Amino acid sequence: MGVTHIPATFRHTCDGCGVSLDTSSKDRPKFWCSLILRRDAYDYHGCAVADGTREFLLCDVCADGAAAAVNAALASRRPALAQEGGRSDG
Ligand SMILES: [Zn+2]
Repeated sequence: MGVTHIPATFRHTCDGCGVSLDTSSKDRPKFWCSLILRRDAYDYHGCAVADGTREFLLCDVCADGAAAAVNAALASRRPALAQEGGRSDG
């Protein structure tokens, strides 16, 4: 009999594509990202009744895709906002 040291392993799984990466650290893997959409959830009267925040852990490939999608979505809204008389910051 003896003692065998089995180091802890943390498995990180991408919420986008499902790829997994095992590391010895609990920290987010290098080049991965946390995408957080922080907002309230509302009832029919418009009262905030719950936390509607959604969090995603994304691998490097999905993080790049998500960042590009966010940039494209926001850029596509700017001309529409300008026509609506909305704010134009540049
Ligand atoms: Zn991914």
